[in-house]
Amino acid sequence: MPLKHKPIMDMFDTSVTVFGAPGRYVQGQDALRLVGDCAATLGSRAVLVVDAAICDMLAGRVKESCARAGVELTVLPFSGELGGATGAELQARLGGRLATVIAAGGGRAIDAGKALAERIGGRLITLPTVASNDAPTSKNFVLYDQEHRLLEVRHLMRNPDFVIVDTGILASAPKALFRAGLGDALAKKFEADACLRSGGATMFMAKSTRLAHRIADHCYETLIRHGAGAWSAAGSGHVTEDFDAAVEAMILMAGLGFESAGLSLPHALTRGIPLLPGGGNIPHGVQVAWALIVHFETLRLETPAELEALYRTVGLPLSLGDLGLAPMSSDLEALADATLGARHANNTPFKIDARMLVAAILRVEARAEKRSLAV
Ligand SMILES: [Zn+2]
Repeated sequence: MPLKHKPIMDMFDTSVTVFGAPGRYVQGQDALRLVGDCAATLGSRAVLVVDAAICDMLAGRVKESCARAGVELTVLPFSGELGGATGAELQARLGGRLATVIAAGGGRAIDAGKALAERIGGRLITLPTVASNDAPTSKNFVLYDQEHRLLEVRHLMRNPDFVIVDTGILASAPKALFRAGLGDALAKKFEADACLRSGGATMFMAKSTRLAHRIADHCYETLIRHGAGAWSAAGSGHVTEDFDAAVEAMILMAGLGFESAGLSLPHALTRGIPLLPGGGNIPHGVQVAWALIVHFETLRLETPAELEALYRTVGLPLSLGDLGLAPMSSDLEALADATLGARHANNTPFKIDARMLVAAILRVEARAEKRSLAV
């Protein structure tokens, strides 16, 4: 019988601090070989939910590792939309059996695996194959509608039991995805700052923890120090010290930072950006990168020079023009309304309204235009 308890988002409030983390975080070259031993600690049966595009590359190696550890493995390649029915569809393909879910791929396949784990009440191992976001360490996952608009953010009771990060696989992944991961991670320090200063609620609906706030800080420091070096290694297949450090910041530190220290305007803006013509096709982390610039402008904070320099090195956007977008003012108003409807938008030291947000976006554009005329 499943245990009866409150959903995690109804359990806490800002009178308490809550820190959440995965059971074990394992990172290194060829860390994939350990997946079977990790799965064996959770049960004798596992199901691999894997992005169909990389199934050939990955499934054999996971199967081998599981077989060595005495774990029976079912492979479910996943493609298509990640929507409200995904968990039930995967459960039907699994045939109703209980198994540890091994979710492998980029953000979408990891979230599909989380949806299945929620559905069957199974334990969870995440195995990211790209460093494009910090979903592998977190308890939440995102569902979309047919137009790829965010439908719902759902929350598992616990973070994954194991996060297995094979840096050799990540270093061979497309460079553009690494750029998105950088954008997503760089914002975390500033979102944690804003959430703490506003007394806002974290991803546990609780008060920000001091530790997670420090982790978000260290995530930023690590990326400023190692980000450009990691960028040169990304896509090459070679794991360098810089690359290893950046991956830990982008997957572990960013994940812990946002969950237990909170989000703010940059992630709230990801609700609005898909409403701009062409906005829905921009990767999440690249959206967040631009949104961070708008966050600084809205809160009248300086954009740190070292951050701007890193943006230029890796090609992250400093303006809507850099994103190739030219929205009308009615589009910007729609963006502002959707953004301010997201709960993270409350995590700002003073109240933001739609007019202030649109004005900040326009100031960012004007500054970028001035800069481009000057060169
Ligand atoms: Zn994010």
